[in-house]
Amino acid sequence: MATDLRTKVIRDGTPAEELFKHEGLTYNDFIILPGFIDFPASDVNVSGQFTRKIRLHMPVASSPMDTVSETDMVRAMALMGGIGVIHNNCPIPRQAAMVKSVKLYRNGFIMRPKALRPEDPIAMVHEINDHLGISGILVTNNGTSNGVLLGIVCMKDVDYLKDKTIKVSQVMLPRDKMTTAQYPIKLEEAMDILNRSRHGYLPVVNSKDEVMSLCSRRDAAKARSFPNSSIDANGQLLCAAATSTREDDKARVVALAKAGVDVLVLDSSQGNTVYQISFIKWVKQSFPNIEIIAGNVVTQDQAKNLIDAGADGLRIGMGSGSICITQEILACGRPQGTAVYKVGKYAASRGIPCVADGGLRNVGDICKALAIGANTVMLGSMLSGTSETPGDFFFKDGIRLKTYRGMGSIEAMSQGKESGKRYLSENEVVQVAQGVSGHVVDKGSAVKLLAYINKGMQQSAQDIGETSFDAVRKKMYEGQVLFDKRSATAQGEGGVHSLHSYEKKLFASKM
Ligand code: 5GP
Repeated sequence: MATDLRTKVIRDGTPAEELFKHEGLTYNDFIILPGFIDFPASDVNVSGQFTRKIRLHMPVASSPMDTVSETDMVRAMALMGGIGVIHNNCPIPRQAAMVKSVKLYRNGFIMRPKALRPEDPIAMVHEINDHLGISGILVTNNGTSNGVLLGIVCMKDVDYLKDKTIKVSQVMLPRDKMTTAQYPIKLEEAMDILNRSRHGYLPVVNSKDEVMSLCSRRDAAKARSFPNSSIDANGQLLCAAATSTREDDKARVVALAKAGVDVLVLDSSQGNTVYQISFIKWVKQSFPNIEIIAGNVVTQDQAKNLIDAGADGLRIGMGSGSICITQEILACGRPQGTAVYKVGKYAASRGIPCVADGGLRNVGDICKALAIGANTVMLGSMLSGTSETPGDFFFKDGIRLKTYRGMGSIEAMSQGKESGKRYLSENEVVQVAQGVSGHVVDKGSAVKLLAYINKGMQQSAQDIGETSFDAVRKKMYEGQVLFDKRSATAQGEGGVHSLHSYEKKLFASKM
């Protein structure tokens, strides 16, 4: 590797320390200067640390907003190697059920496979098939998903039988004729066994012959198209969830923990509060295995208090989101570029990763955030309007749209008390909005959009001349990644100009 050509000798740009010294800057106010390339973009590793313990293949999280992150989005985020944060603007059981549904998603393995007892009638096989489209059903001693395995019954075994009262045990393939695998097993190994056995299903059992999971050929083939998915030690998708930090939120955390949540995101627009500090301490003591992201913060003092309290990660941003009016109404916040640089630098000195949250309009902004100190980014607007977001599409003036709203908008705060808590105003007689509600155009599949973002990040790091964003940040702190400030006219020059008309197509996907 030609490292001498990588080292900047002439240095005709501005180091980050100097760039962010004076007035507050947004992503649009600066540009990264290119470096030396001696590797292909495909060599770039974009992975990033989300919390102290969790590293993501793709350093992207979805915002805990009720028009962005419910089950479908959070599943897609984890499958693509990022993570989603289930919003909390809903009753506790609903949020916990969404977490559970993500955790039990069949990422190749069905964690709670449908099962019947040997004495059940075959009518039940038809019933399950009609309702859930499942064609292979396990038979266990007690009819539960994790009972002792006795056999398997498939639709093809019962289809031709007229008498629906026949017992399952009379038609099932018995245990001694089945191919099974011992827990734990990796997806690739399970696929190998399935291919050799030519069966559609492979039950995975423990040493007591109790069912641990079921691998289905169809699901396993699907899971293979997501080789970088974010999974826990059991192979289940990672899932984060938001909560506020009041006394009554402890019940929410208990329910989320029971549902299997991996990360709690303390959702507050100004996180430097006594509530948050004591809540972090309580969670850490009660659930030491759950990671906590605290925030939001935009200054080093705010960051210090939350890190001292035990936060495993920080969320940076106040008033920079596309739907936010906090800076306008409350005169408090910070331009996001400066916030990410200042907080990122302090948090890095304490070994705590940071999420740059809000204000990201395109892949370029994401790469800038990662280059100036963020370990991961959080997207609301960029993911809004995709098929995986909650809510229905509708047409206005012939354009397909979806609603996207701030959690501090009057609309969100009047739907759920939790949204008001984010702005410390849930019990107020007069509620001051800190966000707006609007519409965004249909963006198609979030999975395709995320694949494009991933590629864009790789190409950006390549232009900067580094094979990872960890390396970009290291060089940035050493003053070896240089920047230019951009005037308003420079920003204009950097966009499309001098055309009569054009159509902005962002990517072409063969997925
Ligand atoms: P976006 O990606 O749309 O630019 O920003 C999303 C982020 O904005 C969220 O992750 C959250 O931190 C923040 N946010 C969401 N709703 C509101 C709101 O109503 N007011 C403010 N001030 N921030 C919001």
